[in-house]
Amino acid sequence: MNIIFLGPPGAGKGTQSKLLEERYGLIQISTGDMLRAEVSKGSETGKQAKALMDAGKLVPDELIIAMLKSRIAQADCQNGFILDGFPRTLAQAEELDSMLSSDGKKIDTVLFLDVDEEILADRISGRFTCGNCGKTYNEVSNPPKVEGTCDSCGSHEFKRRADDKRETVVERLKEYRKLTAPILPFYEKTGRLHKINGMLSASEVTGEIEDALASEGLITKK
Ligand code: ADP
Ligand code: ADP
Ligand code: ZN
Repeated sequence: MNIIFLGPPGAGKGTQSKLLEERYGLIQISTGDMLRAEVSKGSETGKQAKALMDAGKLVPDELIIAMLKSRIAQADCQNGFILDGFPRTLAQAEELDSMLSSDGKKIDTVLFLDVDEEILADRISGRFTCGNCGKTYNEVSNPPKVEGTCDSCGSHEFKRRADDKRETVVERLKEYRKLTAPILPFYEKTGRLHKINGMLSASEVTGEIEDALASEGLITKK
C-alpha cells in the first residue's frame, strides 16, 4: 500500500510515518530528510536546496520530483511506501499520480493530519532529534524516557534543525498555506482523503490512522 501524509510543518507526519514503518513494514520517504542528507553531503542538489530551506521556502518542483522519482524506483519501495513531506504543491501531486500510473501503481490513501496553527509553532520549537539514529523527540510532549539518552539507541547526542527557529517557522507556515493547502481538494475530489485530528496525543493519532487504514481494508489493526 502507498500512503501520503499531508499536513503543516510540525503536524506529526514524521512521528506517525516512523511508527507505521515499524509496525507495517512500509518504507518512509521523507523528502525533507533526503534534502538534509544532500545538504550535508554538499551535493549539487544540496547546494541548490540549502538557501531555500534555510529561508523556509519550498525547493523547486523539478528538483524534488526528480529526487522522489529515483527513490520510489528502488527495490525497497516496491511493497509500499509512506510519503512524508511530498507532494507539497499541486504540480507535485499531479506529477506523482502520472509517475505512479505509468508503473501500474497508485496512491491508496491520503492521511491529512489536521493541527491548529497556534499549536504548531510550539511543537516545532520544542522538536529535537537523536544525532545518531534520528528519532524525533519534543521537550514538552515527548522527551526521552531517561533525560539526555535516546530511547532507541542510547546515544547522548541530540540535534535541532536550523529551520526550526521561530522566524523560519512563520515562513514555512506561509508556504504551507499558499502552496500546499490547495492540494487538499485535489485528493478530496477523488475520495482518497482522510482527515485525522492531529491534536490528540501521538498514540491516539496512531489509533485514528489505523482506523482509517482499516476502513479502507488496507490493514488489519494490530
Ligand atoms: P516539516 O516536516 O517540518 O514540514 P520537512 O523536513 O518536510 O519539514 O521539509 C523541510 C524543508 O525541505 C522544507 O521547508 C522545504 O524547503 C524542503 N522540502 C521538503 N520537501 C519538499 C517538497 N516536497 N517540495 C518542496 N520543498 C520541500
Ligand atoms: P512533521 O514531520 O509533521 O513536521 P514531527 O513528527 O516532526 O512533525 O512532529 C513535530 C514535533 O511535535 C516533534 O517534536 C514531535 O515529537 C511532536 N509531536 C508529534 N506528534 C505529536 C502529538 N500528537 N502531540 C504532541 N506532540 C507531538
Ligand atoms: Zn537514537
